[in-house]
Amino acid sequence: MAKCIFCGKKPESKTKEHVLSDWLIRLTGNKGKIGNFGFDYNVDPPKQRKFTFDSFTFPACDSCNQDFKLLEKRASAVIKKMIIKSNISELELNTLLDWLDKIRIGLFLAFNTLDKNYIHFIIDNYIKHNIGLYDRMVIINRIDEELKMLSVRGCDSIAFRLKSSCFSLVINNLFLFSYVSPFLFPRRLGFPFYSKDSSEMSYGKKRIMYPLIRKPFIFKGTEIYQPMFPTHSENGLTKYYDSDYVKEKTLIFDKGVGKIFIKKEREISLYKNENDWIPKPPDKNDYLDLAKNLAKQVCLTQNEALKNSKPNLDSYTEEKKKEIIKIGKKASNDNKRIIQMIDSNKSIL
Ligand SMILES: [Zn+2]
Repeated sequence: MAKCIFCGKKPESKTKEHVLSDWLIRLTGNKGKIGNFGFDYNVDPPKQRKFTFDSFTFPACDSCNQDFKLLEKRASAVIKKMIIKSNISELELNTLLDWLDKIRIGLFLAFNTLDKNYIHFIIDNYIKHNIGLYDRMVIINRIDEELKMLSVRGCDSIAFRLKSSCFSLVINNLFLFSYVSPFLFPRRLGFPFYSKDSSEMSYGKKRIMYPLIRKPFIFKGTEIYQPMFPTHSENGLTKYYDSDYVKEKTLIFDKGVGKIFIKKEREISLYKNENDWIPKPPDKNDYLDLAKNLAKQVCLTQNEALKNSKPNLDSYTEEKKKEIIKIGKKASNDNKRIIQMIDSNKSIL
């Protein structure tokens, strides 16, 4: 049964939702253009899927679709500003990160639908309840050349099916690397955190450690971070967050929405200046260099995410768990192979 991509229920007054937004397709001149949409793994050998950007739509309730119109409208304004190097506010960055969440989950669901859920996951993460749930970051870069293009990397990989944590988007001259994960950097931000060693929550240290994510990124650009935390009273976690330190660094406390942070030369600061996001021009203003590093970064980070936190397999049978672990190893090897192909210039970007 086709489910609404937003709420996961049988669509009421069924409409079609463009997972890659309609305005985005128009902005990048891709209406009617044929794109590559990953591989069909149900056939052997896997076959590359090709169809028009415009037909990349999935079912949605009319009311759900309407609910997200405002986010799309706001995101479209932010992206257009970024393309022309306009100043953007903290709230606009919050919108950008919400929108990247929407696209990321939308693409996860879309590729699973196209694959006929090839790995046979239990899918319960629909768009509506998964925006702004976890700590998130984006690395932004751009080139000054005028380009018309739309490229998404990472969403067709098996690693992304297992853990949809990271992907990239190239929108004309704008390069975005998006990474989302529970407890991605709260410890180093001085926020309460979940300790893997003791398997329990700890109070934060109330000081920022530089950098927030220790492993340096090979894709360079402006690094933006936003902590998102669970504050619902029923989960018993509120007491950990109820401090001036957290509140000072929070946009909406009741919803667990943190302020926006930016990585600068040797420090992490609150985002204040509206033109702070504009990245320094890359050493060489070279599209291919940026595109290669971005594509490699997605593979590296997806593997890192797989290694750091295994998918939750509690609801699966022992046999199925083993199968998924085997798929995980294959996923990581696939990504390593893509990196080798990019390095040897064999991969088409
Ligand atoms: Zn719906």
